[in-house]
Amino acid sequence: MPELPEVESIRRGLETLLLDQPVIRRFEFARKDLRDPIPVRQLRSLEGQAIRAVLRRSKYLFLAAETGGVLSHLGMTGSWRTATDPKVLPGPHDHVRIEFETGLTLIYRDPRRFGVLDWAKDLTSAHPRLDLLGPEPFDPAFSPEYLHQKARTHRSPIKNLLMNAKIVVGVGNIYASEILFRAGVRPGRSSERVTAVEAARIKAFTTEVLAESIAAGGSSISDYVDASGDQGGFQNHFRVYDRAGKPCLACGTPIRRDVHAGRSSFFCPRCQR
Ligand SMILES: [Zn+2]
Repeated sequence: MPELPEVESIRRGLETLLLDQPVIRRFEFARKDLRDPIPVRQLRSLEGQAIRAVLRRSKYLFLAAETGGVLSHLGMTGSWRTATDPKVLPGPHDHVRIEFETGLTLIYRDPRRFGVLDWAKDLTSAHPRLDLLGPEPFDPAFSPEYLHQKARTHRSPIKNLLMNAKIVVGVGNIYASEILFRAGVRPGRSSERVTAVEAARIKAFTTEVLAESIAAGGSSISDYVDASGDQGGFQNHFRVYDRAGKPCLACGTPIRRDVHAGRSSFFCPRCQR
């Protein structure tokens, strides 16, 4: 499943591809629903309009046209591809095509159909998919004080808090373990017992880990049309994730695995308190 760094890499790829602000000639829908119904009429209203920007909010991509734009979420298996790519043949899972006046065609492919295609006016107006999302990890609103305040009032394991999109978007399971290792805080620690200093460390390492991952993912999946979400290079940087029983890179103590909210957490019992 693509996480925020992969989605950001895909956004950058699409941005490069759509840099000349091509005009949408037409949409073609092979089906009218994915996880939810596709608002076909609203999307068709964008025909004849230029793409002005390619934006991201959490794991949603937004192709901003003039009176609105295409909001997409890749779900488990979604991808954007170009029809001009000779490696990509039309397939049974190509659900939506966007043809541009320039000759470019974008295809939304999604075998498991957990993805979303929707219309939105922009990324700031009220929208049911966006209204409950917390701040972006790189937004100044995600400050140490903000995180500490949320931690004191939520009383859940700190890892669950970090993965809660209403608190901050984009921290997936792998990243949560890596962030908390660098911050020296155990994933199972009750969030109300996280100090202001620790909250500041967690905030700083959230930004650092996600930025490193974007940098690693951006290089290997710059050809975004092949993006499957697992081709980034960040897996080579894991310090605790999926390393249960192996020695901690800092102190040599075997890494431990615990389960929080049904997801595996990895931590060093000596480096993390
Ligand atoms: Zn250690």
